[in-house]
Amino acid sequence: MRIAGWDVIVFDEIDSTNAEAKRRARAGFAGNVLLIAETQTAGRGRMDRKWESPRGAGLWMTQLFRAPNRSPEGAVFVSALALVRALRVETGGDFLIKWPNDIVINGKKVCGMLAECGFDADGAWIALGSGLNLRAGALELPHAISVEQATGRLIARDEILPAYLTEFNTLRGAWAADGLATIIEQLRPLSATLGCEVLVSGERAQAVDIDIDGALIIMKDNRQRRVVAGDVSVRGLAGYV
Ligand code: ADP
Repeated sequence: MRIAGWDVIVFDEIDSTNAEAKRRARAGFAGNVLLIAETQTAGRGRMDRKWESPRGAGLWMTQLFRAPNRSPEGAVFVSALALVRALRVETGGDFLIKWPNDIVINGKKVCGMLAECGFDADGAWIALGSGLNLRAGALELPHAISVEQATGRLIARDEILPAYLTEFNTLRGAWAADGLATIIEQLRPLSATLGCEVLVSGERAQAVDIDIDGALIIMKDNRQRRVVAGDVSVRGLAGYV
């Protein structure tokens, strides 16, 4: 199957779509490949945390592609912006981006992303995994929510994918042509983190900006600090966001 220039491969069950993407990257791949699983037995978040992917309850996928540079963080911003836009158009819900790698609504996590990268003779590749909760009732995590719970709309994978991939392709082109600054500029108004008091690894601070390299700028005791994705988990004072 081909959607918006991506070769789509669907697995009934797999350990993790990111793990399969990395296996394929090492074996050699051509073009844009999109791996989807009905369920994952070993889905992962950052820092090897478990990612729940119940059968038929969400869009569990990894995009394997060539990137303009070796920046998995950049790819996550491109993907989060594209998916938030697609979700807003499809459902009208107020989806936002929690720095650096989640999509949230109503203060809960509806999607998590994990990008990994490597290098071969043809240059850098990125395996960009996203787990989007679509159906209500399948997850029992306190900070998780599904698109159906948040918006009352049960959308199909096939509805959201073309909208998302089309948006992703456009933004990826802008990223390649103009760098990450143009993506961050578009992402700022859709940030759930900016302007909020947050806990950065347990320390209380004000999130004041996302810089053009994608780092979070926090203010604490009248001093600014730059926080790089990958180093920290950001939490809201009262809960997840
Ligand atoms: P964070 O960015 O929140 O620090 P990660 O990106 O590492 O965390 O994602 C892993 C965490 O996400 C897990 O520890 C778990 O709390 C949560 N989680 C796991 N599966 C799901 C899911 N399907 N929906 C929402 N949250 C999930």
